[in-house]
Formats: sequence, structure tokens, C-alpha cells
Amino acid sequence: MASRNTYTAKMELNRKNKAAAGLMSEQFGDVADMAIHMTYYQNGANPLLMIRKVNIFPTSSAYFKMDCMIKGCEGGGFDLTPIVKGMVKAKTREKKGTLDCRGRFAEAADGHARIEYEISIRYRKSSR
Ligand SMILES: [Zn+2]
Repeated sequence: MASRNTYTAKMELNRKNKAAAGLMSEQFGDVADMAIHMTYYQNGANPLLMIRKVNIFPTSSAYFKMDCMIKGCEGGGFDLTPIVKGMVKAKTREKKGTLDCRGRFAEAADGHARIEYEISIRYRKSSR
């Protein structure tokens, strides 16, 4: 039961965070749409964990903190928010990089998981 409660609490927190982040149209009005490709890796013999693509539209939440996919990771995740903010500010269309999970994970030291991300943004033609 404990793990189920933790899961429910996490989902609830996620929902609140998303609501607090606001909508793309409010936060990033210049963005027509956006695609985030992520490849998740873990340390170990079988490092490729999953590949994920997220499409973001003006009606989507402006929330870019992705969960760490490793079971048992505490407070981890990958926060793309500062990257997205920087891109929109500079009107950058494409950006690639990697992020390490900084969460606590009992069975491993730092760097138990990381993502490679690729973000592409299309901007509205003349906005304002
Ligand atoms: Zn983690």
C-alpha cells in the first residue's frame, strides 16, 4: 500500500505542477508548436531504457520536467524548463544535449540515468 500511496501523491503533485506552469499560449505565446525527442539511458549492461517523443501545442501545459524512469529513484527527473526558456528567448529552433538525473537512488551512485534530448520549436510568423 505504501508504494501505491506514494504513486498517488506523485501523480497529484504532477497535476498541481502542471496547473501551476500554465499553458504554452500564456507562457510562450510565440511558439506555434514544439517537439521533444528523448532517449532515456540507465547505467548497466542494457543502457537503452526507452525512447519518447512529446508534442507540445499552444493548448498544452508549459511543463517540461520529465520523470526519471528508474524505479526507486527519489526526487529525480530531467528538467527541460530552463532549456526551453532559453531557446524561446533566443528564438532557437533546434537544440540537442544531455541531462543527468540528480535524484537519489539507493542502489547506485550519481549518474544512474541520463537522457539525450532534441528539441525543435516552430515559432509563429510575426508575433506582435
Ligand atoms: Zn533518477
